[in-house]
Amino acid sequence: MNPRPDVFLISIDCLRPDYVGAFNRLSRLTPTLDRILERGAVFTNAVSHAPFTTPAVASLLTGRYPFQTGVRLLLGQVCDPETTTVADAAKRAGYVTAGFPSSFILNSTTGLARGFDEYRDIDDGHFSARGGCWQGGAPLNAALDGFLAAAGCDPVFCWLHYFDLHEYHTDASAPPQSTYTRDLRDKIDAVCIRNLLAILEKHDRMRRAAFIVTADHGECLFQHGVRGHGQHLFDSVLRVPLGIYWPDGEFARHRVIAHQARHIDVLPTLMDFWDLDRDRRLPGESLLQLCAANSRKESVSYAEASPRQLFEGNTAEVRSFQGPEIQALRTDRHKFIRHDDGRIELYDLSADPNEFCNLLTNACGGSSRIAATLSEKLDALSGESPPRGATQPMSTEEASIVRERLRRLGYVSEFATMGVHSTR
Ligand SMILES: [Zn+2]
Repeated sequence: MNPRPDVFLISIDCLRPDYVGAFNRLSRLTPTLDRILERGAVFTNAVSHAPFTTPAVASLLTGRYPFQTGVRLLLGQVCDPETTTVADAAKRAGYVTAGFPSSFILNSTTGLARGFDEYRDIDDGHFSARGGCWQGGAPLNAALDGFLAAAGCDPVFCWLHYFDLHEYHTDASAPPQSTYTRDLRDKIDAVCIRNLLAILEKHDRMRRAAFIVTADHGECLFQHGVRGHGQHLFDSVLRVPLGIYWPDGEFARHRVIAHQARHIDVLPTLMDFWDLDRDRRLPGESLLQLCAANSRKESVSYAEASPRQLFEGNTAEVRSFQGPEIQALRTDRHKFIRHDDGRIELYDLSADPNEFCNLLTNACGGSSRIAATLSEKLDALSGESPPRGATQPMSTEEASIVRERLRRLGYVSEFATMGVHSTR
């Protein structure tokens, strides 16, 4: 008898919650995804910890903030070797584990393959027709199909990262909103997710399947004047969809939970489901208690970004980490943002969810006090652990390959046209 439900952790690159039907009933773009999400708990105020794929995924998979994993840029860093991953926890719980990362920036050189029995790196020509950059959902699902066939009756934990929505970046033929919605409807929902469910049915794993569905980060579709992700820490890029469906018992059926939930909470939640002892070093908390009580003490979430360190102007020079350029602390009510040039911002998310009105521009005493408190908390939190991890050395030839791959992903031209350059 299989004592555990199979668990599928699904992250969809760039997916904004307000484009998903389960989070916004006016959206009709994601009927297949909604069928999974609406059966369980939907967290309408969930956040990521970085607006770039690699650090965001590292935090999701390890339950730790970027300054704890050491993965703080898009490329060139290795996760702290002492950091355990969600796959390590799954192994302890008795699962056979597999990771399907979809993009070369998440290859096992990042250290994120730790704990996975099988991890499908993206190699030149093997899985992708796009220059070894990334693979679409169809080959990813085919690889999952093969893995499930080999797994037999063992319970499985699978992490699947779908990258197809990212491709809208490279389509300059139509306005970004229309290409984004088209790709979400036609590629993610109608192909990636629908085929995934068909494969689970084929292997008779749908009845006992648990799902955690989220995104690595959101996407800025010209809110705050830019398109894409990585340039700032506003909610358009930090807010993510998060839904949990667990087949056992009566766990949070059809529940909508508005309290802040964080990516660092996902690993403690899974450990709670699996009855594993709580790891006191993890900064997150299980969301099971939040689901049960629908309340929690004030939740604080950290995020950071370093857009200038992505590239040296228009060339892909991967550099050593110079410290975060933007840091943010987000509570259920406020967002405090601090830049490395000394600028600070404070937003009241309940009154100003789009973060247009910096309360510190004409600061009253109350706003200044809140900003000072959050600034102290930010120092205390990010200063508590020294940054760990190592930098991957990269030759000139490798850097040139990386630059071409990033161009194919839409990054280089995107950042170049946005004027994000080094200030060396
Ligand atoms: Zn991403």
